Amino acid sequence: MKMNEKPLKILMVASEATPFAKTGGLADVVGSLPPALRALDHDIRLVIPWYRCVRKSAGPLRKSRATILVPMGGRIWSVAWRHGQLDGVPVYFIDVPEFYDRAGLYGEQGQDYPDNDARFGLLCRAALELARKLEFAPDIVHAHDWQASLIPVYLRQQLWRDPHFLNTGSLFSIHNLGYQGLFSTDTLVELGLDSSLFSADQLEYYGQVSLLKGGIRFADRINTVSPTYCREIQTPELGMGLDGLLRSRTNQLHGVLNGLDGIIWNPATDQALPKTYLASNLDGKAFCKAALQEELGLQPAADIPMAAMVTRLDQQKGIDLLVDHWDEILTRKIQVVILGSGTPRYERQLAELASRYPGRVAVLQTFNDPLARRIYAGSDLFLMPSRYEPCGLGQLIALRYGSVPLVRSTGGLADTIVDPRTSLDRANGFVFQDYSGPGLLEGLDRTLSAYSRKRDWKKMIVRGMTQDFSWERAANAYVELYRRIQSDRSG
Ligand code: ADP
Repeated sequence: MKMNEKPLKILMVASEATPFAKTGGLADVVGSLPPALRALDHDIRLVIPWYRCVRKSAGPLRKSRATILVPMGGRIWSVAWRHGQLDGVPVYFIDVPEFYDRAGLYGEQGQDYPDNDARFGLLCRAALELARKLEFAPDIVHAHDWQASLIPVYLRQQLWRDPHFLNTGSLFSIHNLGYQGLFSTDTLVELGLDSSLFSADQLEYYGQVSLLKGGIRFADRINTVSPTYCREIQTPELGMGLDGLLRSRTNQLHGVLNGLDGIIWNPATDQALPKTYLASNLDGKAFCKAALQEELGLQPAADIPMAAMVTRLDQQKGIDLLVDHWDEILTRKIQVVILGSGTPRYERQLAELASRYPGRVAVLQTFNDPLARRIYAGSDLFLMPSRYEPCGLGQLIALRYGSVPLVRSTGGLADTIVDPRTSLDRANGFVFQDYSGPGLLEGLDRTLSAYSRKRDWKKMIVRGMTQDFSWERAANAYVELYRRIQSDRSG
């Protein structure tokens, strides 16, 4: 911190955070950024829901005796919370059993819960009331994705004259523009918002209400999770109908590349691996590959390259490229491992395709963190043929575990993976341009040909494993944004 700069008071609100609740990269970010901000001496507090799964991951935390009264949609909710911590960061879990004590975070069996608007509206409104109760007057409220996007809306629409929030600015982070929190028009009343917000320059999105749009519209500043995605979402191709609004806020829109937590993701210490390893000695990695082949019923073969994916099965992730060109891909001498769950159609298709290649392909349809780690460690190359990718953590984890990424040039993938064609000295993976079968196969063939040149391949592995994507850099970039918000407000 510079001389005569005061530590910031930051309230962070999100719908998931490791190690408590996770469905994707958002959780990794929200689990790592607060401790990194704390390490820079800021006073940071995190608020997430007390889901059923959190009971296990956070351990038994006592329910607050006091409650906060939260006005929402013509009703006053009496809401309790639980107080835990994450590497010294206070974490407050909003405890509303009728909303959060469920099997899933957002839905079950591919179906969203129909009351997600109220579930996450209440999270936002309760987080702000909790700050008041704790006598914590934040300089910045940092809200993530559509589930927390009502924070800037409530601050501007309901609390703008409230003395407690007089000096509170807001940052809204978009981790994925594809999830907009779309609901029918009734949602505004339910969330206690004025129906005049239902217009194209406010929250309306083609006849529905987009909560994400509220965050973009009302936050003091906005960021996405990579510089390239920040540019892409301002174009009609990847702007998902919000590019006009985003362009209108271009001066308040930033790209901050995510970090990767090098303690959580470390092949030298990872307890989930059958053998740990370092960049300076990759014997353990070879052991992990053999163990994984045995675990998944694949042919035991050290020299057949193993390609892996660990992913949500969503059309964003390029699953259809794989499905449509499956047999062509498997004419190559490779094994394929896919860990992922999601869209039922993809689950069915992949199960059928896997059954055609016993001993060469394993498809596992679960969410399983230790298995994901064994796959990052055991595989030789890591596939991310995404249609779009805001940042992507999969490729960063793969780098760290010595699995060479093969990615499509989009969003954060373009910002983190360097192809040998771009720079031989900095190359850490392979990048293909066209979202097409020939595009993917061209990239795959170049990757497999590099695999056969053992010395070059090893160099690339070591370069990736020793790269630094630390959270400290990202945390400093966020602090700079927080300070700019403060100075915008005082100016
Ligand atoms: P997204 O946030 O779009 O899902 P990212 O690449 O940013 O994609 O982050 C995905 C995160 O979720 C990574 O930490 C990855 O290891 C993890 N992950 C994805 N699918 C699974 C799965 N089936 N089992 C375990 N971890 C998974």
